[in-house]
Amino acid sequence: MIIEQLVPERYLFTHADEPEAGEAGLIAYAESTEDVSEFLREANEKRQKVVTIGSNTGLTGATYPTQGEHMLSLEKMNRIIGLDEETLTLTVEAGVTLAQVREFLTDTPYFYAPDPGNKNATIGGTAATNAGGMRAIKYGVTKDNIRGFDVVLANGEVIHCGSVNRKASSGYDLKSLFLGSEGTLGVITQLDLKVIPKPLFEKSLLIGFNKLADLAPTIYAIVTSPVEPVALELLEGKGVEYSQAHLGQSLPAVEGNDFLLLTLNANDEESIEESLRELERIAKENGAVDTLLLDEEMAKQSWAIRDNVLNGIYAASTTKMYDPVVPVNKVTQLIGESKKNADEMNIDSAFFGHAGDGNIHVCILQMDYSDDEWVELKAQYEEKMYQLIADLNGLPSAEHGIGYEKKVHLPKFFSDAYMQTLKSIKNTIDPNGILNAGRVID
Ligand SMILES: Cc1cc2nc3c(=O)[nH]c(=O)nc-3n(C[C@H](O)[C@H](O)[C@H](O)COP(=O)(O)OP(=O)(O)OC[C@H]3O[C@@H](n4cnc5c(N)ncnc54)[C@H](O)[C@@H]3O)c2cc1C
Repeated sequence: MIIEQLVPERYLFTHADEPEAGEAGLIAYAESTEDVSEFLREANEKRQKVVTIGSNTGLTGATYPTQGEHMLSLEKMNRIIGLDEETLTLTVEAGVTLAQVREFLTDTPYFYAPDPGNKNATIGGTAATNAGGMRAIKYGVTKDNIRGFDVVLANGEVIHCGSVNRKASSGYDLKSLFLGSEGTLGVITQLDLKVIPKPLFEKSLLIGFNKLADLAPTIYAIVTSPVEPVALELLEGKGVEYSQAHLGQSLPAVEGNDFLLLTLNANDEESIEESLRELERIAKENGAVDTLLLDEEMAKQSWAIRDNVLNGIYAASTTKMYDPVVPVNKVTQLIGESKKNADEMNIDSAFFGHAGDGNIHVCILQMDYSDDEWVELKAQYEEKMYQLIADLNGLPSAEHGIGYEKKVHLPKFFSDAYMQTLKSIKNTIDPNGILNAGRVID
């Protein structure tokens, strides 16, 4: 274990754009589960608060040290332990990144399904936040693609959650409890990932709409049809403009102001083409004005536009991005009303995201507002937005987590008794409150 008293500056900021560097007591780079266990045992005895850090790509400010915490980095635990083809399990240390997993599996017949946007994220970080991404509509989120893992508790004890068995009804489901707990209940050190045989063929379709309101019926009709897309992404016009300007290239020519981009995969090329024709029919029946079956080059171009919406928005202005999820049939209501709220406050907005999951990234842009005005405007906008999401029966975060940022809004979505249950769980598993203190709940 390497310990540095002087914490490098890159660990003292997060993507939440803090105005000044955070304050951390030291940083420890664990090299094994035993290191983590020893470090937490000592910290717990001394009631020393600890923040766990993967690649620091998180979007909730959770890794920002505010209380002189000791930072525990998993980045040196980056070994791929091995692939077991009999159980289709890839075992990795928690600091292995998504990019490393992808690279390792390139020459195998398998892939790991979760596909969050930032491929530098660690597998431990994606497990801790239950990250989503593009392929969740078909393959589920991170939680659905992890068979089991080792987690070190606050007192240093190590437990294994989950198993390589396909089914489990064997007591409380601790695997689900730890996944998505954002480092507040334990530190994940090693994981068994589920890998899937790669389908042979993949094809994409671009669908254009003149009216945003027509997207929701189409999305709903697609997700309730027998056709199962791997990805079903929303490209609202403004987001497309930012991405195109940033990349200096355009979407393939399709009529419309707002778009859906979807991909199907299968082992039989003919069945994909048949399903795509069916989806074109569904889209047109529900208000689409144009559809375009994409060849390989056009699919690459379209996905590049999709992948760069956020980069394009960031390039245009300081931006605040939110991560709500609503029932799929309410997607355009969420966008329409979020846009109306922004327009009324004279704020530029843009939207994109995982339409098939009802998970839309709402972005507001600072543009010419001063930093002080921006802080005030953001707070006012958030109040309205989280109330809207609650009214639509949605949740404040689909895949990024709660961290520091959304903590104050959580009680809008859950009863007092529910919130109290969360606190009881935290108090039972981490009675001294040393792990990621103040994140998710107080
Ligand atoms: C450009 C961009 C695009 C993104 N796209 C997506 C997307 O499509 N979908 C999506 O879901 N997210 C997305 N994200 C968010 C981010 O990549 C994810 O939240 C990711 O899961 C964070 O992984 P990390 O290793 O960087 O974790 P960190 O940022 O270091 O930590 C995140 C949280 O997990 C905890 N943690 C980290 N490692 C562990 C561990 N081993 N054990 C216990 N707790 C741990 C931390 O304490 C913290 O609370 C995006 C981020 C960026 C910047």
